[in-house]
Amino acid sequence: MEHSDVILVKCKNCGTINRIPSNKMHLRARCGKCKAPLELADFSGGMPVKVTDANFEMEVLQSPVPVILDCWAPWCGPCRMVSPIVDEIAREMAGSLKVGKLNVDENPIIASRFQIMSIPTLLVFKGGKLADQIVGAMPKAQILQRLRPHIPYS
Ligand SMILES: [Zn+2]
Repeated sequence: MEHSDVILVKCKNCGTINRIPSNKMHLRARCGKCKAPLELADFSGGMPVKVTDANFEMEVLQSPVPVILDCWAPWCGPCRMVSPIVDEIAREMAGSLKVGKLNVDENPIIASRFQIMSIPTLLVFKGGKLADQIVGAMPKAQILQRLRPHIPYS
């Protein structure tokens, strides 16, 4: 997993994708092309965010970048296969997207609002709207393929 050492951050000024070593995330990174400061704070350093019924609006619908919401439950075996894949995607594409984790047992309002019938389900939100729904465990390559239309740099 050497690739997890570098995260991709999009420059809001010129659109260049910068590769930032994750151990330099705390520094004031600048765009390699236009030297504009890169805003890393929004993306939690590529760490998935815990999403709940209470913070869904703020973390997901109001996110400036597309959000992949991993809907899971502790008793779900296939969820444990998808979870680390989603974590990897979060690190690799920090700055381009945000990854959230929603425990469907603890957050029934959101689970029923999006009619989540089986888990794992990945909900893809873009601009505050549901853009796609990926149901069931699948390999990383297939998940990335499904995300590609929604995330410019995947
Ligand atoms: Zn730039």
